[in-house]
Amino acid sequence: MTTVLRGDDAAVIVVGGGHAGLEAALAAAKLGAETLLVTGDPDRICTLACNPSIGGSAKGQLVREIDALGGAMAAVTDRVSLHARFLNESKGPSVRALRALADKPSYVRVAAAMVATQPRLTVVRGMAEDLDVSAGAVRGVVLADGRTLRAPNVVLATGTFLGGKTFRGDEVRAEGRFGEAPAVGLSAALARLGFPLGRLKTGTPPRVDRTSLDLSIMVEQRPSSTPLPFSYASPPAFAGPQLSCWVVDTNDRTHALVRENLHRSPLYGLDLIRGIGPRYCPSIEDKVVKFAHNPTHQIFVEPEGWDEPTFYVGGFSTSLPAEVQLAMLRTLPGFEAVVMLRAGYAVEYDFVQPTELDPSLETRRVAGLFHCGQLNGTSGYEEAAAQGLIAGINAAQRAHRRPALRLGRETSYIGVLIDDLVTRGVDEPYRMLTSRAEHRVLLRHDNADLRLTPVGRELGLIGDEAWDAFSRRRNALAAARRHAETTRVPPDAVAGIRLPAGSTLADALRRPDVAIGDVLDRFGGSADPASAARAEIEIKMDGYVRRQQLAVDRAARDEAVALPSDLKYAAIRALSLEAREKLDRVRPRTLGAAARVPGITPADVALVSVHVHRLTAGPTAPSPAGAVSA
Ligand SMILES: Cc1cc2nc3c(=O)[nH]c(=O)nc-3n(C[C@H](O)[C@H](O)[C@H](O)COP(=O)(O)OP(=O)(O)OC[C@H]3O[C@@H](n4cnc5c(N)ncnc54)[C@H](O)[C@@H]3O)c2cc1C
Repeated sequence: MTTVLRGDDAAVIVVGGGHAGLEAALAAAKLGAETLLVTGDPDRICTLACNPSIGGSAKGQLVREIDALGGAMAAVTDRVSLHARFLNESKGPSVRALRALADKPSYVRVAAAMVATQPRLTVVRGMAEDLDVSAGAVRGVVLADGRTLRAPNVVLATGTFLGGKTFRGDEVRAEGRFGEAPAVGLSAALARLGFPLGRLKTGTPPRVDRTSLDLSIMVEQRPSSTPLPFSYASPPAFAGPQLSCWVVDTNDRTHALVRENLHRSPLYGLDLIRGIGPRYCPSIEDKVVKFAHNPTHQIFVEPEGWDEPTFYVGGFSTSLPAEVQLAMLRTLPGFEAVVMLRAGYAVEYDFVQPTELDPSLETRRVAGLFHCGQLNGTSGYEEAAAQGLIAGINAAQRAHRRPALRLGRETSYIGVLIDDLVTRGVDEPYRMLTSRAEHRVLLRHDNADLRLTPVGRELGLIGDEAWDAFSRRRNALAAARRHAETTRVPPDAVAGIRLPAGSTLADALRRPDVAIGDVLDRFGGSADPASAARAEIEIKMDGYVRRQQLAVDRAARDEAVALPSDLKYAAIRALSLEAREKLDRVRPRTLGAAARVPGITPADVALVSVHVHRLTAGPTAPSPAGAVSA
């Protein structure tokens, strides 16, 4: 790993080599910006600090979108995937999502190799302790060893490390992650600059010796028997042996042990943790206390690598003392003789309220300073990577004096994620969910490339080879659709179902009881199976997509009304004081974004609309300057 210091000519500095930092650094360098990646320990780039899984519901869509835009996460995962499966297959294409387990050490190796071979990207080992800011703009970062690195664009991607503290029973350590020093100075620097900081918390379960379990009495979850890559560019091949996972349930004895030891919990009896934990990934203590009516909770037993000695005990995150964790594990079926190799723990850290950010992820307070990842109050590798990609793109765009990329909610889950963060803020760790995306019928796993690859190409992130492959896929899909819409099928020729005379292949596919497998032979040589399968999804979703598009068009009218960045909400006398304060704090860029600020009513939006129309003295203000969108 290179750790050369070459700070003077950098256009972009990325601080933090986690999932956000990796995407940011690669994207900035690929876009031609001389980039430094400053990270505490370059040998731990892109560590999977908790679960070994990438993707899953809504997160899988994020990974596909990262890939479609030209990011790295999908390609890294495909090269180290040891168990992949589609989730929600029976629930329809708009919520179908891919999830893969990764070989953890290989994930770090592959990510580090990408960094090492990326031109214009240099890794610097060190901890950033301060920011060099003058005249409202960032000039560089100051490292703990006294060095100063200079660049007019700085991306902070510091994860759980700001003011990090770990907890296990009454043991409290200053750590950003198990065994790794926290970043202390940077929190103080951000507070000094006026950024509002808050405290959040997350946790991880114990890891156990895989040979100490009796897997024969657990429910086995097998991986897919066909390769399922995330990336459009990955070959349809397994990266290595595919391994099973297992599922067990907690029971009365597990729950009794939790209750008996709550007085030793830093979350409860000891009351040491103040940060808010993730609602969708609660600790076992929280599950037993807050969902006391549930007699059992599911626990997922997952390999952490092809050759790793450990299994991850998913759903069993805890910060109780190590000996209590071991006793609790031993109550699980198949865990009677378990050997615990590493106890679970909780980590509490500072985050910066993301309402401080423009949708480009540049802070409004300090020009050239970008925030992304867990620092913005999100939880999860995928959410971090998605933001990192956008921050890295926009740091490079700014370096080249090119317009920022701002993705709308109708284009992508990435757009939804960022809009939620910057307009609503965070009061608990934010996790992406399909229910957050009102246009999810349009934002599917299958069509991420159609939505975002042209945007990546326009930016310069998609090379000729990937663009040619995309163009071929797009043409093949269009041909498959044309063939389906124009080819007639005999009335009784499809899956034994009677169709009205004159029906086309597409009419047959619109029926829920006809699947692509029933009609694949009717595509003849005019479509490969993958394009035919994509055409089937489009045909089946047609009606929903048309209805959703109407809603998107309606929303676009409000999105097209730009709100001046210096709009004086105090001047809108009819607005309540509360609404004025909220809008003044968030400073939404458009009328649509103003409507999404929590607590802002349709009446408030109407008042702002009238005011802005008076100011601009025209029916519709121009669309936001400099926005590139899909
Ligand atoms: C104990 C634990 C449990 C978790 N549990 C879950 C979970 O159950 N589900 C889930 O989805 N997510 C979980 N996560 C969160 C997941 O790890 C993060 O969401 C994700 O890794 C965030 O990515 P990031 O890039 O923002 O930061 P990280 O992956 O944390 O990376 C931050 C990087 O920045 C570097 N760094 C930090 N400060 C500085 C500095 N001042 N100077 C230089 N380098 C610096 C660090 O060395 C590190 O490389 C957990 C994390 C931890 C630590």
